Amino acid sequence: MSAEGASEVTTVTPADGKHASAPLAKRDADQSLRASALSTSDPETTAKAVSESHGIVLAHEPNGGQSSVRNRDQWNEAVRRWKKELPPVQSVYQPSGRLPPKALALMILGGSLGIPAGAASAAAVAGITALLVYLLGAVFVAIAEALDVFVCCPLVLMIIVVALGGLAALIAWGCVPAMCVVSLGRQGKNRNVGVSVVVSAMSALGAVLVLALLVPSLDLDFLPGSLRDGLPWWLILLLLIVPLVAACGTALGETVEAKFCETCEVFMDKKPLVELSYGGARLMALAIKEADFLAVAGAMEIAKGNVGRPLLFTCPECHSGCLDLTMAFSASWQRPDKPEQNEEASETWIAASCSVPPKSVEVLRRFRKGRAS
Ligand SMILES: [Zn+2]
Repeated sequence: MSAEGASEVTTVTPADGKHASAPLAKRDADQSLRASALSTSDPETTAKAVSESHGIVLAHEPNGGQSSVRNRDQWNEAVRRWKKELPPVQSVYQPSGRLPPKALALMILGGSLGIPAGAASAAAVAGITALLVYLLGAVFVAIAEALDVFVCCPLVLMIIVVALGGLAALIAWGCVPAMCVVSLGRQGKNRNVGVSVVVSAMSALGAVLVLALLVPSLDLDFLPGSLRDGLPWWLILLLLIVPLVAACGTALGETVEAKFCETCEVFMDKKPLVELSYGGARLMALAIKEADFLAVAGAMEIAKGNVGRPLLFTCPECHSGCLDLTMAFSASWQRPDKPEQNEEASETWIAASCSVPPKSVEVLRRFRKGRAS
């Protein structure tokens, strides 16, 4: 079904406002249909009129045909087509970069607290990993003794647990300090992304150094001899780079995501709205471009799905807001060289963004995700 949809949708007029083939008389009729729909103030009727007048066929490719992707080439081609019809844009909200002195002081405090918090959380995750490995080792020995054969499954499992647990510990090492910095910075109304990232990175580095200083005083007899004498260069690099990348990524994402009303000096509330199908996302992107909020709301009534994810940010004081429509596509397919394994790919981007006046915020808030319809 999706494969058929894939061939059909390419004939649909792109959502870029060009309708070269529509005869003039039909366009006039469409516009009068839309005008009458707008006069009804009904989101569903308005959205239907907009989709019809722009040739957006909502029934085709409910999820953009992502389930029909069978290999990497098809995935690349599909992403190219999606981005042509729904080009990536920047959010209308960009952080002002303001850094109140109180926010700087609070972020430095957060960074200081983040050093022991990061080191402790990394040690805790590493401890849990070591415990799991010890238990698996005991099972491994018990099975080998009982059956008098070498079974490699527990050994493979142990290697996977060490790899995943080690990675989780390294990520916690960076994320926890960054969360301390970001959450205290938020208390001080920080909107400066760069300072948030730098303080988080320094805090994560501090957390790594704390454990590095503690290591010589630990009992490391359990480690293999080669590791006891000194860590290889690639492991030292990994121990530094992963926490730093995790800290910078967390601080960047969290600071940009926290949108702020500069007029009222408060952070906005974030509400995910009803998710959309591919056609629904194209309809909403068009409606956002034209600031047609009835059609934006109507798209969520007539074209639900899971690839278009609208996010509404509202100021709790003045009730104005902004709306970002994020596209989220993912697909998996069998690897040609190893048919028993799947290859996965995913891509997200903002396809439309606009400011929303308080009156329209009221309309859109009724469509929050998970509401009883
Ligand atoms: Zn406000």
